[in-house]
Amino acid sequence: MTHLTPHPTRRVILGSILASAACISIDPFDRSAQAASNPDWITPFPPFKIAGNLYYVGSRDLASFLVTTPSGHILINSNLATSPRQIRAAVEKLGFQWHDVKILLISHAHYDHCAGSAAILHETGAKYMVMDADVSDVESGGQKNFHFAHDKTFFYSPAKVDRILHDGDKVELGGTTLIAHKTAGHTKGCTTWTMKLTENGRTLDAVIVGSPNILSGYNLINDPGYPKMAADFEQQFKTLKSLPCDIFLGAHGAYFNLLEKAPRLKPGGANPFIDPAGYRAFVADHEQSFRAELAKQQAAAHHS
Ligand SMILES: [Zn+2]
Repeated sequence: MTHLTPHPTRRVILGSILASAACISIDPFDRSAQAASNPDWITPFPPFKIAGNLYYVGSRDLASFLVTTPSGHILINSNLATSPRQIRAAVEKLGFQWHDVKILLISHAHYDHCAGSAAILHETGAKYMVMDADVSDVESGGQKNFHFAHDKTFFYSPAKVDRILHDGDKVELGGTTLIAHKTAGHTKGCTTWTMKLTENGRTLDAVIVGSPNILSGYNLINDPGYPKMAADFEQQFKTLKSLPCDIFLGAHGAYFNLLEKAPRLKPGGANPFIDPAGYRAFVADHEQSFRAELAKQQAAAHHS
């Protein structure tokens, strides 16, 4: 097992190994096993306005975003099974209503971004809109995931999808438009969301990265459950490099240095989330990791 670019899911894998080593019987929807994987995933973070009508309502590391409009709100990422209560508290602390959440979106179909979906859909009546190739994952509660189908610690409550999205589709509500960019590889339907924000009369492009990470154990060149994984990663980096970005965000706070940037957000000051250079560096760094791992796996296959 090789460890590549930093990704908190590593700790989950470790947690899962430890759990099986200790012969702990894990229920498919065991919340403690999933939550225990990283304290920053479950520790609340003060909600705040990022820019325009975009707000942060996630934990210290599991990002969740609220897009507010006069016709109701869009929530991106439901996070862990235990997260909806925290996300709701964050939304209400900002002065918005939970039942005004009309649309639920996700970054990708892994339990740290979508396990709370079933509860949120039930509580708010929101419509669930998911990228085509992640639909079977979320509707099976992770049991149809190409990589984790045999690991119950990665399962979550299934949730029915109301609208199947395709690359480039628009999600529109109350005058705000989000665009779903399929940036697959990490999951088959991994999605990077973009939207335009207006702040101080300036229009800003926001990018919420889905995940460019190659997980430990991913077989880039010959995975029978995902034969075109490498081609999808290639396309992902092409797409990420093509997106205009002022405001750099992502599925995990660690992607965009949430903990370092949020305290620097001051009225009248420069917005620390406007970080096009940080975005380009993040994408370049992960593309480099992908190329190195691909070369390594190709060499190993060649010599065997
Ligand atoms: Zn993931």
